[in-house]
Amino acid sequence: MQLNELLSRVEVIGIPTRTNFRGVRIREIALIKGERRWGEFSPFADYSTERDALWLQAALEAANQNFPKPLRNRVLVNATLPEVAVERIGEVLSWFPGSSTVKVKVGTANDEERIAEVFKIIPDARLRLDANGLFSIHQAQEFLLSLYNKYGHQIEYVEQPCASLAENGALSLPFPIAIDENLRLGDEIHEINKVADVVIVKVAPLGGIKRALNVIAQLDKPVVISSALESSAGLSAGVALAAHLAEDVICGLGTAALLDGDITKNSLLPLNGAVTVEEIDVDLESVARYRLPQERIDWWHNRITTAYKSIESENEREELI
Ligand SMILES: [Mg+2]
Repeated sequence: MQLNELLSRVEVIGIPTRTNFRGVRIREIALIKGERRWGEFSPFADYSTERDALWLQAALEAANQNFPKPLRNRVLVNATLPEVAVERIGEVLSWFPGSSTVKVKVGTANDEERIAEVFKIIPDARLRLDANGLFSIHQAQEFLLSLYNKYGHQIEYVEQPCASLAENGALSLPFPIAIDENLRLGDEIHEINKVADVVIVKVAPLGGIKRALNVIAQLDKPVVISSALESSAGLSAGVALAAHLAEDVICGLGTAALLDGDITKNSLLPLNGAVTVEEIDVDLESVARYRLPQERIDWWHNRITTAYKSIESENEREELI
């Protein structure tokens, strides 16, 4: 398939978010119709071409290749609590029925109030704190020790407390550390193995399911498959990967609930603490409803073109399309 044909198979949509997630209020997504299904290309706006190329490879793999064989028909998911006002926490948690493991974004102005509110609503909650690398070593130590004194091991782990792998390795915490950004942004796997107790694995930033499986094989730590605020099209690749792994762990794949709409008849919304493993059925009426104006379509076509051209080897490209 030539680039022109690839672009002719692209739909560019924008789905409103139900909360302000890392500043995103309209989630822009390019869907690519392939031989097997629709793939999703939705790197955030500030990503480099190098990162875009991995996302494009993941989208093309999903569009054109078989997903690995699932070992189960549902994947357990955590609730995801972005930075919202305390008054909205009950509402956000209700979008994840049956999930008592809650991933809380921290490093915000009201972390402590939000965490207290989660325990008020779900007294036996297990928390996964995600700082997205915002803390200094000192802040991480101080904040996390104070939480430990209050909640003990109801904190399951803290994800990416500091930005660099060296800082994360220098921490001495009462909780396990999960590594996310350091893996996605290219730290060496053997170095990550030294620091991480858990590793967050996301299909799109790693360049697809096959590459993610290759990374997982090199990690000697438990993994949690997570998403990046994708539509059900993108989420389905993460769900396929999680369902293929031997360990039945609680994943971060319930995030369709954070979008105010979807483009499928069978959205991967969480129910009873899990999402169902199934091929999603893209609904063209919904695609039309969320289609963005021509100016945004052109912008995404340019972005795909640049990412496509940056995939260096011709073979690598042909393998995908
Ligand atoms: Mg994270």
